[in-house]
Amino acid sequence: NKILSVKNLQKIYEGKMSHTALSNVSFDMEKGEFTAVMGPSGSGKSTLLQVISTIDSPTSGNVYINGKNPHTLSQEELASFRRNQLGFIFQDFNLIHTLTVEENIMLPLSLENVPAKEVRKRTKKIAEYLGISKLLPKRTFEISGGQAQRVAAARALVHNPSLILADEPTGNLDSKATNDVMKLLKELNRKMDSTILMVTHDAYVASMCGRVLFIKDGRLYQEMTAGDSQTQF
Ligand code: ADP
Ligand code: ADP
Repeated sequence: NKILSVKNLQKIYEGKMSHTALSNVSFDMEKGEFTAVMGPSGSGKSTLLQVISTIDSPTSGNVYINGKNPHTLSQEELASFRRNQLGFIFQDFNLIHTLTVEENIMLPLSLENVPAKEVRKRTKKIAEYLGISKLLPKRTFEISGGQAQRVAAARALVHNPSLILADEPTGNLDSKATNDVMKLLKELNRKMDSTILMVTHDAYVASMCGRVLFIKDGRLYQEMTAGDSQTQF
């Protein structure tokens, strides 16, 4: 069951000095995969994630999410597609501090026309699952950093997205917090069969994923699978 298919992506930033940020990038992800894209700063990781998440469009090439090419949708369809199919996990969690934990988790569902009863049911279920039920009525400034990660994960998952995109989720964290975040992502991947694509510049973090794609100067040049040999592109 193919969740993501990336075909011959090329991204050229035009300008005085045009810059090729992605060059002939192709790979697929099956349901339940946890894949890292690893590379140094400036290698094209953010660009890749932005093109896959449809925040930016490719110069050429195609992206298919669940067999659908989001870059051919209208703006309106695209907003809905993104909210339904994608879940985002960022380094700084992006929780909204004027809302409660429960309201933060509900947000992706509140934006769609999901009945209120169903919203509460799904929020309750995901909170139980991630062990944060007791936090639901709290304000986000009353909870710890580790709890905030769980709340952000709950929000990314509550609408049951096909694909979770994680952008340097361990970016500025110390090693204990990094391990906690990776443990959480692995839990989402294993127990909920979530399909996760994470970009990172950290080899230690990448080594905890089932599959690692290496990117440099906008090209994938090597792939490693846990306990497996290497593929050269
Ligand atoms: P990474 O996330 O791996 O650090 P990026 O995808 O942010 O890499 O950047 C890849 C390359 O594209 C870099 O050389 C960067 O300077 C360039 N770049 C990124 N965004 C833009 C932009 N909006 N305009 C021009 N060049 C850009
Ligand atoms: P091309 O290089 O001609 O664009 P592709 O392999 O990207 O070739 O696609 C050929 C056609 O097959 C496209 O028009 C597209 O609609 C369809 N297609 C390719 N891959 C997928 C996919 N993973 N999911 C759905 N449709 C796809």
